[in-house]
Amino acid sequence: MITLRTGRPGIFPAINTTRKALQLSALLPHHFIYLFLDGIGLAPAGPDNPFAPVGPDSLDPMPFLNGVLGTPLLAGPEIHTSEVLFKPVDATLGVPGRPQSATGQAALYTGRNAPAFLGRHLTGFANGSLRILLEESGMFKQILALGGRATAANLYTPAYFQAIENRKLRYSVGALLNITAGVPFRMPEDYERGEALFWDITNRYSSSRGFELPIIAPQEAGRRLARLAEGYEVTLFESYLPDYAGHAQDMDRAREVLREVDGLIEGIMLYKSPGTTLVICSDHGNIEYLGSRLHTLNPVPLLVFGPAAPAFGGVETIMGLVPVIVDQLKLTIDTNKLNR
Ligand SMILES: [Zn+2]
Repeated sequence: MITLRTGRPGIFPAINTTRKALQLSALLPHHFIYLFLDGIGLAPAGPDNPFAPVGPDSLDPMPFLNGVLGTPLLAGPEIHTSEVLFKPVDATLGVPGRPQSATGQAALYTGRNAPAFLGRHLTGFANGSLRILLEESGMFKQILALGGRATAANLYTPAYFQAIENRKLRYSVGALLNITAGVPFRMPEDYERGEALFWDITNRYSSSRGFELPIIAPQEAGRRLARLAEGYEVTLFESYLPDYAGHAQDMDRAREVLREVDGLIEGIMLYKSPGTTLVICSDHGNIEYLGSRLHTLNPVPLLVFGPAAPAFGGVETIMGLVPVIVDQLKLTIDTNKLNR
């Protein structure tokens, strides 16, 4: 939007304040892609860590990401540049026990200490108490309140809502994020338009979930996500693949999952606009240590690519993401209003 304007200088009056506002807004992030990867922690290289390169050729399971970072996704030095951030962040949040998905995701999507709020780490799906946190502080609600637009790219199906109704399933935290903000779910008709993604990235598991979707390359999934993100200030996509692979304790499967995640990131990075910032984080460790089927106490990686990367430099826990995203968008939206 700004590129078009600055590329056609004759259209806008050469008023200094307008020009200043345009220059400022050109530096600001316009969109965020929030990629949630379930169950990825940071640990040193070792025989049980699928992130470590293996074999005589040092085969790397995440060649694209590691090419950008210059290192595998292992415990090690932080990276802080104008466009790239990589640092470990805490997922235990001072609450005893192993961090779990429901409270971890609630912390990631609200900025609140969900396990402290409940008094424990809650596994799997959301309970009624967690819904209170989402009602009060859900990221989507906060973005809509600023005048921004938010969406979850994940594909939902009528069968999912039927299972909820039949009490065979409970809502995930991500689903509650939509519900509490009144954000519509993406359904099969959205998928048909290329405007939704199945949580497994490639549709490999779609047939086992009761519907057939054609297999797509992870890079194509990334391209679709990047394109969708152009219409929203924040686009969330959740993938649970790494957590499943971690619980399965299967090195080959884990590496395959990491290759798919790497392809997804590659597709996003190739097709996202320069003003879009990609934020990647996790709710707890798991896949980085296949020696146990349990979640780990390891920190999780915070990865940020794009113009807002430096703003995340001070984030220390999984609670820290939402406040930064909201602050950044507040700046962007205020500046865009100035331009109108
Ligand atoms: Zn798990």
